[in-house]
Amino acid sequence: MTATSSAVGAPVLVIGGGISGLTAALEASEAGHEVYLVERNTYLGGRVVQMNKYFPKMCPPTCGVEIFLKRLRTTERVHLLTDSEVAAVSGNPGAFTVTVKTRPRGVNANCTNCGACVAVCPRERPDAYNYGLSKTKAIHLPFGAAYPPRYAIDFAHCDGKSCAKCVAACQYAAIDLDEKERTKTLTVGAIVVATGWKPYDAKKLEHLAYGQAKNVVTNVEFERLVAADGPTGGKILRPSDGQPPKSVAFVHCAGSRDELHLPHCSAVCCMASFKQARYVLDQLPEAKVAHFYIDRRAPGRLEDFLQALEAEPRATLTKGKVAKITEDASGGLILEAEDTLLGKKLGFTADLAVLAVGLVPESATANFPSSWPAEPTGFLGASPGVFPAGCAKRPGDVATAARDGAAAALKAAFCGKVR
Ligand SMILES: Cc1cc2nc3c(=O)[nH]c(=O)nc-3n(C[C@H](O)[C@H](O)[C@H](O)COP(=O)(O)OP(=O)(O)OC[C@H]3O[C@@H](n4cnc5c(N)ncnc54)[C@H](O)[C@@H]3O)c2cc1C
Repeated sequence: MTATSSAVGAPVLVIGGGISGLTAALEASEAGHEVYLVERNTYLGGRVVQMNKYFPKMCPPTCGVEIFLKRLRTTERVHLLTDSEVAAVSGNPGAFTVTVKTRPRGVNANCTNCGACVAVCPRERPDAYNYGLSKTKAIHLPFGAAYPPRYAIDFAHCDGKSCAKCVAACQYAAIDLDEKERTKTLTVGAIVVATGWKPYDAKKLEHLAYGQAKNVVTNVEFERLVAADGPTGGKILRPSDGQPPKSVAFVHCAGSRDELHLPHCSAVCCMASFKQARYVLDQLPEAKVAHFYIDRRAPGRLEDFLQALEAEPRATLTKGKVAKITEDASGGLILEAEDTLLGKKLGFTADLAVLAVGLVPESATANFPSSWPAEPTGFLGASPGVFPAGCAKRPGDVATAARDGAAAALKAAFCGKVR
């Protein structure tokens, strides 16, 4: 797999295969460029494929992602490198030299997804797709609709050749326990950085009892706890006793807009909390939801979504930050907050609390050149020949990520041609 310059110009490197990276890769390839798409995970789609549904339409993420995959399957110009990360970059716009390292996946393209390997695998691992809320075997399909549709081995949890039961069970010679890390050197004209985000570490929010009280979960975990392919089969249940909650508190800005944690607004958490309240109201006809917020941010047409929630008799929205969460003997939660509009302190009880943790840029911890400028928040700015897109650039929703990806592809395509 070596791409050379096409009639329209040098190849483009896209780092990150979420919505923004997929958009950039497809737009650049459809404009005639050869594209290398480097994705760290074993699958494409980024954080969005871990959502249950996505606003504003509330459709499952696989619907939207499938449209991208259909385009991907019909182009030969996108060279996909999953399980891969950029190790080094040198050179200048028009001629960057990039070193990419690819981890062994242990399963080749012969895999038919028959699952015979899983049936015999004796080792388990925390399921990263479910944010560690469940386990898979060491050899696993990342999730049902994963692309590439192929199993992978988590070698950190595999006994290797001393076990090799999967090799014996596979009729298709698809498993290679000896596979080694590979290094590839690419020459590209421009780079799109679409490495997205990760959730803020809720363990740093000790006052909100995450990791101490079982019934305090994060917003990303809640997406999995509601998803049909998640650890509870889509039933909203309290982690402490497996019972459906009667009241769910949504703690907005958990660590966000806070100089001690994340100074920035993560742009999507309010809407994510409103969406998640809808999951509760729709699934549990008796349950109530309560939101505690600093401001309610539902820009543009998303205001309709907020207004529908305001009209809900089973929903309350209180302007005030949650100062503390404590757990009672039965696993119930007591939230201390202030209603800043009425100027009074509140003690609120809930069966489950969902922390709306903010977005931290993945690029801040990636092995990228120090010459790629980052804002104080860690989100990336542009530099000659290097164009950030989506949540690598700033927090935002899927529509913004897709728009950014298209814009970055355009800039990459014209890189070095216009001043
Ligand atoms: C709780 C919650 C709910 C949300 N719900 C919605 C919703 O309903 N609707 C909506 O519009 N938005 C929603 N969002 C926002 C949405 O998740 C983002 O808009 C979207 O993920 C942005 O896509 P992206 O491609 O920029 O980043 P990502 O989805 O983070 O994708 C980045 C990709 O880059 C890869 N990557 C990272 N680092 C590297 C590296 N060093 N090398 C190679 N690859 C790398 C990652 O593995 C990943 O595949 C929600 C956010 C949260 C927190």
